Amino acid sequence: MLPEWRCCIWYLKHKMNKNKVLIKSGRVIDAAVETDKVLDVLIVDGKIAKVAESIDEPAGKIIDAKDKIVMPGLVDMHVHLRQPGREDKETIFSGTKAALRGGITSVLAMPNTSPVIDSKETVEFVKKISGNQANCNLYISAAITKGQLSKELTDIKALKRSGAIAITDDGHSVDDDQLMLQAFKKAKKCAMLVICHSEDKSLSAQGVVNAGFIATKLGLKGISKESEYKRIQRDIELAKKANSAVHIAHVSCKESAEIIEKAKREGVKVTAETAPHYFSLTDDAAEGYDTNMKMNPPLRTEEDRKAIIKALREGIIDVIASDHAPHTEGEKDVEFDRAAFGVIGLETELAASITELVDKGFLSWLSLVQKLSYNPAKILGIKKGTLKVGAAADIVIIDAQKQWLPKEENFVSKSKNSCFLKKKLKGVVEYTIKDGCIGYSAE
Ligand SMILES: [Zn+2]
Ligand SMILES: [Zn+2]
Repeated sequence: MLPEWRCCIWYLKHKMNKNKVLIKSGRVIDAAVETDKVLDVLIVDGKIAKVAESIDEPAGKIIDAKDKIVMPGLVDMHVHLRQPGREDKETIFSGTKAALRGGITSVLAMPNTSPVIDSKETVEFVKKISGNQANCNLYISAAITKGQLSKELTDIKALKRSGAIAITDDGHSVDDDQLMLQAFKKAKKCAMLVICHSEDKSLSAQGVVNAGFIATKLGLKGISKESEYKRIQRDIELAKKANSAVHIAHVSCKESAEIIEKAKREGVKVTAETAPHYFSLTDDAAEGYDTNMKMNPPLRTEEDRKAIIKALREGIIDVIASDHAPHTEGEKDVEFDRAAFGVIGLETELAASITELVDKGFLSWLSLVQKLSYNPAKILGIKKGTLKVGAAADIVIIDAQKQWLPKEENFVSKSKNSCFLKKKLKGVVEYTIKDGCIGYSAE
């Protein structure tokens, strides 16, 4: 038995250190300060307290990160969580849990739920569920038009006040030029980010795969590239007219990247994102009518895939986001024509990016971290995506060498419609830490 005073000191020491986590000897990559070196990271009370070469402090939890990557938690700015309305596909709870498994600590939820998030009341409703159920940081985007019907603008100012940080009619594009121009003008006034699903449906004309050789071979209707890049061109022109910022979602083809490059050169406030499937796969994957290869925009050609990688390398595309789009088995296990568009992506986004971009030498780790974490945080105007002292301790620790096979039964997401099923990926999330707490551990 220890004398009482020693017990007391032991108790105090233990209690004092419980709020501390020390990550030892990891390769720390922080795009905000352009760091890429072996360092220790000390977390105190959920915040980054110190990042230095050797930290020797007692901590409640010590993680040995030798030979591991330590980076800020991913910020995924394109996620369909399906709640409210389609809780059979995904919920805020299951989706944000899947996010943590994928190393993602912040998500931007898309508004095409049922009901559509298009009013102060719906934003507040989602905020309330998120307060009880979200496992990671959840940010809300609201619709540009009421019911996403492309007829009447939402009250952008009220949406902003209620806490939405972006507007988008994702799933659709606002066809009416004048209405879209008004949206940009209003968004500019209240500093709201506009995210465009750029698709001219009169040109995509009920297609289901990329228009071209594969579509003809499979006897399926094609989605032309024009339907995407012509609408991107229009959206950029309208944003320019309104002097507003615009973010282009899921860029899939070469021409789109070229248009964005030109606009950037001219000084338009345009940013862009792509999803891992556009730099990992091509429309060949649809041969065999695998409905997990059906998404919108569709997988394009090898030339486009290479152009997307080039655009990522050159900083034309700023962000990698999952466009996580869960669907039930019933919605995918049908003929290709009738299957729902979209694939899940939260749990494979990081590994697919490591496999296709870093491992093949197209991107450095630092620029990958920029695209998965720092840039999306900056575009959304949220204080995430960095390991600077004082920042929230949202961190992911990765074994970048370990390989794994995505399998339906292992997904945390409620839906299993992944285009990476049974494809060997490199990079396993060992820990995801949110606000200093371990939200996911591979152990
Ligand atoms: Zn979309
Ligand atoms: Zn989407």
